[in-house]
Amino acid sequence: MTPPTAEGRRFRAYTTRHLDDLLKRAGLSDEQRLRARAVATVLPFRSNTYVVDDLIDWSAAPDDPIYRLVFPQEDMLPSEDVTTLARLLADDPKGAELKAASFAVRRRLNPHPAGQLELNRPRVGEDQLQGIQHKYRETVLFFPQQGQTCHAYCTYCFRWAQFVGDSDLKMASNDIDQLVAYIKAHPEVTSVLVTGGDPMIMGEPVLRRYLAPLMELEQIESIRLGTKALGYWPQRFVTDPDAEDTLRLFEEVVAAGKNLAVMAHFTHPRELEPELVVEAVKRIRGTGAVIRTQAPLIRSINDRPELWSSMWRTQHTMGMIPYYMFVERDTGPQDYFAVPLAQAVDVFREAYSQVSGLCRTVRGPSMSADPGKVCVDGVAEVAGQQVFVLHMIQARDPKLVGTPFFAKYDPDAVWLHDLEPAFAEKFPFQ
Ligand SMILES: *Cc1c(COP(=O)(O)O)cnc(C)c1O
Ligand code: SF4
Repeated sequence: MTPPTAEGRRFRAYTTRHLDDLLKRAGLSDEQRLRARAVATVLPFRSNTYVVDDLIDWSAAPDDPIYRLVFPQEDMLPSEDVTTLARLLADDPKGAELKAASFAVRRRLNPHPAGQLELNRPRVGEDQLQGIQHKYRETVLFFPQQGQTCHAYCTYCFRWAQFVGDSDLKMASNDIDQLVAYIKAHPEVTSVLVTGGDPMIMGEPVLRRYLAPLMELEQIESIRLGTKALGYWPQRFVTDPDAEDTLRLFEEVVAAGKNLAVMAHFTHPRELEPELVVEAVKRIRGTGAVIRTQAPLIRSINDRPELWSSMWRTQHTMGMIPYYMFVERDTGPQDYFAVPLAQAVDVFREAYSQVSGLCRTVRGPSMSADPGKVCVDGVAEVAGQQVFVLHMIQARDPKLVGTPFFAKYDPDAVWLHDLEPAFAEKFPFQ
């Protein structure tokens, strides 16, 4: 076998088995490593050779933002929990007691925010459909079974429960016929968002099996692929054995008259720097697909406005379209990563003010909450009272889209459920 080259390296994952060695590389002490590994018994860890060797600046670890993007931090969970888990992990790493303790901690982390498992799952007669979510009239989300993992896991992942044993694949389906039948029965659906995990973890033949029937559907105007592959494994579009076939598949979707949108998740400007990413973006754009970018605002990883303006400008220059800045959801280690809404709005506005009008396609900061996507527009003084001004970008009830409303200013609020209505008894969606 020829040794893998920098460009043509085959995908190799790092899992919890490799964690201790990798943490040593960050210079953590025995105790610190044990505590970080204790966190990884609750929240999923996965990385790969590209992220570890090409993206992380090890001289800056453990403060390096890309290191923090994938490696567990001991303070991501309450310290008493970490102490308990660390003791159990040291005593008996395979023991039932550790398993039970990590399960209990997970239950307290709101594993399925915004009623994901129940509220948005469509029914046909008595049956609740697996792997399909239909929350907003025009758009259906599809979770292909083979796409429910990622090339690496983000420490702040809002779908983390998908990756740990207790709720595995509850949202996934391999039944494309069922999705097609559902869409045909719902003529209002014009957009399908294939998501995960990361659908680009699937090889081209599997991806084709899902996309081919969708591109035949006349009512479908756009097909979106929610992915972090451009950040975590750009080889997927350049040097992987099925890269060329994948690009041909993208061309076919475009030729079928659909808007193919690669919804690319980029967390930090560093992810845009490698030559491989530049090349991957060029190739995808060459197929006629459009790349739109999105990410959550995360404390200690990307909570400075200069990082966002830099991301948006570079993306724009590369031909991508900035789409969403999200607020970190109310799940997993939210307490650790949350940026208060009052601060999020400042970060957004300052970054937004630093870019040209062509980059101002981006919207946010947006909370994907139970009633819909709620955008925090700003803080204002109205009738002598300090308030948040908000509006709904998306809503279960389409009549509410675009309606402005107010909430009492609260400097500590981090999520919709922390807010109280101002000048009204209720919020419009209540
Ligand atoms: C964000 C989201 C969509 C897509 O909304 P757009 O505004 O069209 O981008 C669809 N369904 C769910 C559940 C979402 O969270
Ligand atoms: S890429 Fe998305 S689904 Fe995958 S770990 Fe990151 S946030 Fe979660």
